[in-house]
Amino acid sequence: MKVLISLLLASSIFLTGLAGDNVMKAEEAQNLQQKKDLQKQAHPVFKEQKAENPMPYYLKTAALTDVPWYLLAAIDQYERNVRNTRRDLPDADGPVAILIPRHKWLGALNPAQKDRDPFFISLFDGMGKDGNGDGAAYENDPDDVLYTMAQYLSTYGSDWLDYKTALWDYYKSEKTIQVITEMAELYKHFGTIELEKRAFPIPLRYNYDYRSTWGARRGWGGLRIHEGTDIFAGYGTPVLSTAYGVVEIIGWNKFGGWRIGIRDVKNVYHYYAHLSGYEKHIKKGSIVKPGEVIGYVGSSGYGPKGTQGKFPPHLHYGMYKYDGNTEYSFDPYPYLRAWEREAYRSCRGS
Ligand SMILES: [Zn+2]
Repeated sequence: MKVLISLLLASSIFLTGLAGDNVMKAEEAQNLQQKKDLQKQAHPVFKEQKAENPMPYYLKTAALTDVPWYLLAAIDQYERNVRNTRRDLPDADGPVAILIPRHKWLGALNPAQKDRDPFFISLFDGMGKDGNGDGAAYENDPDDVLYTMAQYLSTYGSDWLDYKTALWDYYKSEKTIQVITEMAELYKHFGTIELEKRAFPIPLRYNYDYRSTWGARRGWGGLRIHEGTDIFAGYGTPVLSTAYGVVEIIGWNKFGGWRIGIRDVKNVYHYYAHLSGYEKHIKKGSIVKPGEVIGYVGSSGYGPKGTQGKFPPHLHYGMYKYDGNTEYSFDPYPYLRAWEREAYRSCRGS
C-alpha cells in the first residue's frame, strides 16, 4: 500500500509538471520505502503489531457459525504473517487480517464496485456477508470478514477434512494448508493465541559459544551458503525448543545429520541440526513449548546415515519464513542474542 501511494505520488508529480526537486523527494521516499520493505523481509518475526485483541472476534464468529475458533484464528494469523512479510500486500493493521480479494468478495461480474448490500453481492455469487447485522458487508470490517470466511468453510461441511478441502479450494497450496493446520493445532492445544514466548536453545548453565556466521560460504556438499548460526557446545548438551511449535520434520538428512524442524505460529520454521539424539517423546507432529528439551548437541551429518565427528560438536540453528509463496532463510543471530539476554534477565529476576 505504502509503495503504491509513493508511486502514485511520484507519477502525479510528473503529470502536474512540478519542479524536479519534488520528483527527487518522491524518489527518496520510494527508496526509503524499499529499504523498509527489505528490513521487513529480513526481520519477519518482530514485525507485527496487533491493534486490538482479535480473540473476542474469533469466539463470537465461532459461536455464530460452529466453525472452531482456533481454525479461524489460524487462518487469520496465517494471513497476518503473510501480509506483514510480503511487499506486494498491504500490512495488516486491524484486529482481523484476512484479506479476501475484491473480486471474490463482490463477485467477479458485480458492476456496483461500491455496493456492499449482502443481497446484491450474493446475486453476483460474491462471498461477502454481513457478520454484525448492520445490513452491509464490508471486506475491511472484522466481523464481516470472519463471518464470511466461516460461512465459506461451513458450506463444505463441519469436519476437519471438509475444512481442509475448503482451504484447498481457497488457497490452492498444500503448504498453506499444512501451516494453517499446524497453527490451529497449537491454538487448540494451548487454548490461547498468546504463543509469543521464545527461549534460547541452550540452557545458560552449559558452556557454549556462538557468533554471527549467517551467509558465510561452506565447503561440504557443493556451493552453499551457511543458513544459520552455529552454537558450539559439548556432546550431550540439551537443545531446547525456541518457540511454541509443531514438529514438522524429524530424522536423518545428509547435511544436517539428526535434525528437527519445528514450525511456530508466525510461519517460522526452526531448524536444529547435527544432534546426537532426540528427547524420547519427540516425534513428528509433537507439540512443543519454548524451553522444552527436544534433543542433544552432537556432530552428526555430512555423510550417510549415522556419520558423526566430521566437525566439532555444535548445534546448527536456522530460521526460515514461509511467506505464502516461498520459504526463505533469514539470520537467526539477532534473535538468539535477544533470547539469550532475556534468559539472563529472567535468571537474575528469580
Ligand atoms: Zn551451521
